Amino acid sequence: MKEISCQCCVLGAGPAGLSVALELVQNGIEDVLVVERHPVVGGLSRTVEKDGALFDIGPHRFFTRNMEIRRLWNDLLGSDFMPVDRLTRIYYKNKFFQYPIKALDALVKLGPITSMAALISYAAARLGPRSEPETFEQWIVQNFGTRLFETFFKTYTEKVWGISCNQIGAEWAAQRIKGLDFVQVIKSAFNLGDGSRAKTLVEQFDYPRKGAGQMYQAIADRVEEAGGRFLMQTEVETFSVRNYKIQSVVARTAEGEHVSISADHFFNSLPLTFFYKALNVELEDQLKKSVSALYFRDHITVDMLVDKQDLFPDQWIYIHSPKVKMARIANYNNFSPDMTGGRPKTAISIEYFVFKDEELFQMSSNDIIEMATEEMKYLGLVEPSFVERAWVVKETECYPTYYIGFQPFYQTVRLDINRYTNLTQIGRAGMYKYNNQDHSMASGLLAARNYIGAPGSPYDLWEINVDAEYHEGEKR
Ligand SMILES: Cc1cc2nc3c(=O)[nH]c(=O)nc-3n(C[C@H](O)[C@H](O)[C@H](O)COP(=O)(O)OP(=O)(O)OC[C@H]3O[C@@H](n4cnc5c(N)ncnc54)[C@H](O)[C@@H]3O)c2cc1C
Repeated sequence: MKEISCQCCVLGAGPAGLSVALELVQNGIEDVLVVERHPVVGGLSRTVEKDGALFDIGPHRFFTRNMEIRRLWNDLLGSDFMPVDRLTRIYYKNKFFQYPIKALDALVKLGPITSMAALISYAAARLGPRSEPETFEQWIVQNFGTRLFETFFKTYTEKVWGISCNQIGAEWAAQRIKGLDFVQVIKSAFNLGDGSRAKTLVEQFDYPRKGAGQMYQAIADRVEEAGGRFLMQTEVETFSVRNYKIQSVVARTAEGEHVSISADHFFNSLPLTFFYKALNVELEDQLKKSVSALYFRDHITVDMLVDKQDLFPDQWIYIHSPKVKMARIANYNNFSPDMTGGRPKTAISIEYFVFKDEELFQMSSNDIIEMATEEMKYLGLVEPSFVERAWVVKETECYPTYYIGFQPFYQTVRLDINRYTNLTQIGRAGMYKYNNQDHSMASGLLAARNYIGAPGSPYDLWEINVDAEYHEGEKR
């Protein structure tokens, strides 16, 4: 078996892995090797090109409160990083509701009876006794009332996670919907607000001219220019460890050959659970139970090239209708005109959230495309005759699941993985955290700084996602 050795080995070329590599090479550590199974960089934030059109893995908006990451994004792409005015809506009962919910729009479209019921249940929730919510449902009901929970949160959330809103922890709502106050929504709808914006009310975001992946290709270029190396289309298969130290990693190249990689330090953005499977050793009972208690939601994207323009004005639409399995549709023309290379066509992606052992995930690409085409017709968004071509992208380990009761298992695994002396877990699946791109990048930058011993280190990477401003407030 071919043997490679390097000072730092980064597993996965997503936002987290690329950020580690960038920070290392920019601080004089050039002997960096990045190992990635796909032919393009960017991970879940990559962009794929099909028939001259560009598609992300589901829509990716760039938004961060972390000034360092914002500066880095701007520096990497300059004028290719463009502001986009956000338009996103919810499709529910054959109507399009603005998202984030606008009070006036929702009240008009729900009709007088449902609107009155929604307002009464909202008032009851806000004025009634409050307790520390444990479930996603409790969190939303306390903040929005039962009626709005059922209308705007239940179906979509259950499509995304595949479990009831009662089984999902309040953490997810608190993390994702933090700062949203319906009073503020009402105020902003009637222009009564003080001008401040809650987190989910952001009405503009940034986007690279050629898709999310352009950002990550720009980072990869910088890493390579500074001497870093990439082993693309190379899949990590096993970790060999002794006394909580990684001895080597064995990976399979595109040619089917195996390479053994040794390094002074490994930065791992591959799924936390995968690490333990790839150890190929019998785990102690409690750890084994904890690892198998953590699971991810998987994801299918159907990329569709449509021979028509101006299908709908939104960047994406949340599909709440239980009549179709799809959960979200993105229209990349409304992100950047370059996504179709300036041609009079539309690049859209249709997303299905799924478990990999479900029938839907196992279906052939042709059957999935047929289903997506039928569903688009049912929703009245695209006539099948306009679908020029479509492709299916299946991704696993996309959404770490914060179900009720996962925390003790998570703590056990975190404690164990922290014992490895030359291994740092980074990123979304790597840390089992519901990260956005900026959080994953921050984990990469700080992991590199911990390794270098930069001023202010060591940073606690596990805290990043809890408060995105962590890095700002803490250090530089
Ligand atoms: C549908 C969807 C929509 C999203 N929308 C947004 C958004 O709008 N805004 C936002 O900021 N974030 C969004 N995100 C989150 C964003 O995609 C992630 O936060 C980000 O990509 C995580 O980066 P990462 O480097 O931690 O992990 P990843 O992007 O998952 O990168 C991990 C890398 O490891 C590689 N890898 C895995 N296993 C192996 C192996 N065995 N061998 C070699 N390589 C391997 C993968 O191919 C991948 O390249 C979205 C995510 C999804 C799924």
